[in-house]
Amino acid sequence: MDQSTKIISRPAICCSCSQQCGVLVHLNGKVVTRITGDKKHPSSGGFICPKGAHAHELHYATDRVHVPLKRIGHRGSGDWQEISWEQALDEIADKLKRLLESDGAETVAHSIGTLHGADWGIGERFMNLFGSPNMVGQDKICYGPGAIGETLTYGFGPTAFTYPIPGKTRCIVIWGMRPSASSPLLWRQMLRARAAGAKLVVIDPEFTKEARKADHWLQLKVGTDVALGLGFLHTIINQNLHDTAIARDSLGFDALVERIQDYPLKKVSEICALPSSSIAEVARLVASNGPTIFSAGNGLCQSGNMAVQNGRTVACLVALTGNLNREGGHTIAGPPRDVINNGVAMAVDKLTPKQRAKRLGADDYPFIGAGYDAVDAAMSRRWYEQKHLLSWIATAHEPALWRAIESGEPYSVKALILQYHNPVGGSANANRVARALANKRLELLVAHDLFINASSRLADYVLPASHWLERPFFSYGYGYMAFVGDYLETQHEPLVPEFEHRSDYDLWRDLGRRLGQAEHWPDTATDFWQSLITPAGLDFSEIASRNGPVFGAEVQNPERELYDAPVDYGTPSGKIELSSSLLEQWGLDPLPYFDKPGIFDQEADFPLVLTTGGRVLDGFHQNSQQMPWFRRKRPDPEVRLHPETAKVYGIEDGAWIQIETPVGSVYQRARLTTVLAPGTVHADRWWYPEKGDDPEDPYWVSATNINCCTTDLPEDCDPVIGAWLLRGVPCRVTPSVWKHVDGGSRPEI
Ligand code: SF4
Repeated sequence: MDQSTKIISRPAICCSCSQQCGVLVHLNGKVVTRITGDKKHPSSGGFICPKGAHAHELHYATDRVHVPLKRIGHRGSGDWQEISWEQALDEIADKLKRLLESDGAETVAHSIGTLHGADWGIGERFMNLFGSPNMVGQDKICYGPGAIGETLTYGFGPTAFTYPIPGKTRCIVIWGMRPSASSPLLWRQMLRARAAGAKLVVIDPEFTKEARKADHWLQLKVGTDVALGLGFLHTIINQNLHDTAIARDSLGFDALVERIQDYPLKKVSEICALPSSSIAEVARLVASNGPTIFSAGNGLCQSGNMAVQNGRTVACLVALTGNLNREGGHTIAGPPRDVINNGVAMAVDKLTPKQRAKRLGADDYPFIGAGYDAVDAAMSRRWYEQKHLLSWIATAHEPALWRAIESGEPYSVKALILQYHNPVGGSANANRVARALANKRLELLVAHDLFINASSRLADYVLPASHWLERPFFSYGYGYMAFVGDYLETQHEPLVPEFEHRSDYDLWRDLGRRLGQAEHWPDTATDFWQSLITPAGLDFSEIASRNGPVFGAEVQNPERELYDAPVDYGTPSGKIELSSSLLEQWGLDPLPYFDKPGIFDQEADFPLVLTTGGRVLDGFHQNSQQMPWFRRKRPDPEVRLHPETAKVYGIEDGAWIQIETPVGSVYQRARLTTVLAPGTVHADRWWYPEKGDDPEDPYWVSATNINCCTTDLPEDCDPVIGAWLLRGVPCRVTPSVWKHVDGGSRPEI
């Protein structure tokens, strides 16, 4: 190295997942040489995981899109012309304007993928100002069902991220979650609490890293979580282990007592494939050894028809075991009091009721449709008259979007802007998604992304996105949703955007300014965020200089102590609602119940149970697929199954096999393991980032992506918010060779 070269280290907040670790970005001139954990950061204290440490690999990936591209061949041909941002935005804005005038704003939709920078989600502001109700995201399968389950019960959520307090928390229940992979900072805190004496219960179909540390591991059958929760409640209530004051003051305790008599332990034991004695033992532990934290993860949210029921059942357990607003248990922090919240920031009130009523999915799912207002009113009454605290879950229904594109029902969607999202890879029923994106009814498809992928390859315009290293940071909780409440953090960008890369904010600002929204778009994302915190007397740069989050009264200005029992919960009755008045109002069962998704009608032909997409530490949804380090480590998709199951079907370790469900079939490499019970099959989420030789499916999606087998059919979706089913799909497996391996045309790593 040139001795005169000076390496400088800039503090930043890693956005390679949602943990928000403080990192140091080491720069040689303008080039990132290393990323390391920042020991001075108060939340992460020097921790960094492989995704964060390798984040600059993604930034410098050789196949990144650096300039705007316009399609010049047929859709998917891969024939592009490089154009300027000005030309791209002028042409896109012109098309949107013409569609607005001819078909109405609702004909324009926007679909967003997972967290990729602090301005993730800002497109909702554009959509509301434009007048379209059709932004879709992954909220329906990512903490949305848990949030609505808790909110229907005690008026705010999710609280599943409440950190245990070592020495105070005495029991931790990890349920459908792998924090060692998905939330390593939370996992570290759980281990500290465990070392200080907390008991650990893990509920997971797989013998995970967490299960290895557990005092009790309940290996339930995939998709039976609600039945297990009702079994817990059966034991707790019938043995008088519940909090009697909570029971007395709640709505519907007697009705719940009656309901749980339908779930005696013998029946629950059969449904969940668990011994009755284990269910009873854990129920007694969580009720009598509190404070207890129930850390419920996305395994529960991705369970289709049972998604909100899972959230409701866990919420009833939190409340009835006396663990709400309890030090060492769950806390409802509420939103920041004086900071402008996310729903208002997203201009939700600018969308007229008439346009909102057209939201795709509004007629099918009450929380997406007319039911949202009652939830919002109750929360607003409780939380300082703030509006739209849960608007982040009330977005349009993604499966309804694909149907609208294909069928023109209930109306045509003619333009779609994808942002950092590859729905052909990540959305349920992926073959149908691919058909929708290729459909001629879709007159304009724009993708704003780092790469050309299985979805953006079909676009009319591909716009080069900036990496999080090129963006400033702002968070008032988790991402932009503000459900932690008393937390705020900012940071300046470590790198000036390179080439023609632009952030989400810059894209929507420039499109908005072309479409009459100029007054709503300050010059920079930092200016915009400053406008949200000015009412609280906070300053973006000053907070950034602290290198760490601002907690507590400074952002929240609480009207009471955190652990006081609220005099008013954010429910319509103001009470904890064990029997939900809103569910009843919506014509749904107000009490928790267990049922299988409709797809199990075909169980006889598909005798195994498929679960998909368990998290790994080195990957974050689809964001890591193009990282060379990740690809070298994970060259092919793997499907895990028990050796006994493999023997029944003549499957050998390492062989390619076919996985079939009533929805579709794909190929993955078998990995035999005893971490799963016989009869359970766990497949990787997958698509190849390298291009193969099949012009119709160059990224091998239809051959290998397990989402070709998952379901978004109405009978499998949650009746409250429409969550689709990624975990617990009936399936079968057969030894089979994927032809591309045979023919040698599979891409080389
Ligand atoms: S856990 Fe890893 S990827 Fe997530 S924020 Fe921390 S360092 Fe980044």
